[in-house]
Amino acid sequence: TAIEDKPPLTIRLCEPRGFCAGVDRAIQIVVLALKRFGAPVYVRHEIVHNKYVVDGLRQMGAVFVKELDAIPDDGQPVVFSAHGVPKSVPAEAERRELLYLDATCPLVSKVHKQAMRHMRLGRQVLLIGHRGHPEVVGTMGQLPEGAVTLIETEEDVAAYQPADPSALGFVTQTTLSVEDTAGIIEALRRKFPEMQAPSSESICYATTNRQDAVKASAAGADLFLIVGAPNSSNSRRLVEVAERAGAARALLVQGKQDVPLSEIAPGSVIGMSAGASAPEVLTDEIIAALRERFDVRIELVQTAVENENFPVMRSLRDVPLTSA
Ligand code: SF4
Repeated sequence: TAIEDKPPLTIRLCEPRGFCAGVDRAIQIVVLALKRFGAPVYVRHEIVHNKYVVDGLRQMGAVFVKELDAIPDDGQPVVFSAHGVPKSVPAEAERRELLYLDATCPLVSKVHKQAMRHMRLGRQVLLIGHRGHPEVVGTMGQLPEGAVTLIETEEDVAAYQPADPSALGFVTQTTLSVEDTAGIIEALRRKFPEMQAPSSESICYATTNRQDAVKASAAGADLFLIVGAPNSSNSRRLVEVAERAGAARALLVQGKQDVPLSEIAPGSVIGMSAGASAPEVLTDEIIAALRERFDVRIELVQTAVENENFPVMRSLRDVPLTSA
């Protein structure tokens, strides 16, 4: 029969993968705001970096805007994305008396506090991260202009000449490569031995766990598929981690349409994971597409158990719902 004719394929499926507690909370905030206030609910920036999620919320009545000036004064709320926002954004919302709901991940808020603490203690803040990413824009915007210096690479460390090398403190973006970041921190420590660390790790548990599982399953994989969006920092880092840890090839795929099915040889071993903003349905669809062609055997590679849950703000819990 056709089923018996299918060639074998092994999928090493990483666990944990996909949604983290911060993404889950941000999506819930938009959904609950729609239930409570009805449409439209404005959302500043992509709530999380995933087109499937954004399109789904748009269909429910969310309206995505780049900046607050695109929002009319119609009494409807605006949600700020999980990546965090510069302080100027809630200030502007207050000035305009907009109703706003801040979906900033609590772990991003923690990094904001760490940066503010460095400054309070008289330190220049070094932010290890990627220029232009909304989280970096948000973290830099917690402090006055010039108080934060962005460090992207070890070359940036070599070129950096602070006014006072004895008064430095660093924080990092939450979704970086654990290894790259360690290299940059080491270079900073060599050059500035008095530099102070944040009170706890800035790279978040979800980033670390997803990278660990990919690292554990990459060696010997013929292909590694990371489900995620091109603008998702943590997803792109997973591709790099897979390549570095020994996958012959690693690809970022937004959905099953991006999987190079015809290039997969019978008997191949495929690694699979998903970034923190990628919904599980996309992973399921890819596995289903592979099952159509191959006799798939799934090996689960689990490196951690996640129980994190970040509750939504009280104002959205236990509220009477409109019939939206
Ligand atoms: Fe929060 Fe980490 Fe998820 Fe970002 S990746 S939303 S910091 S838990």
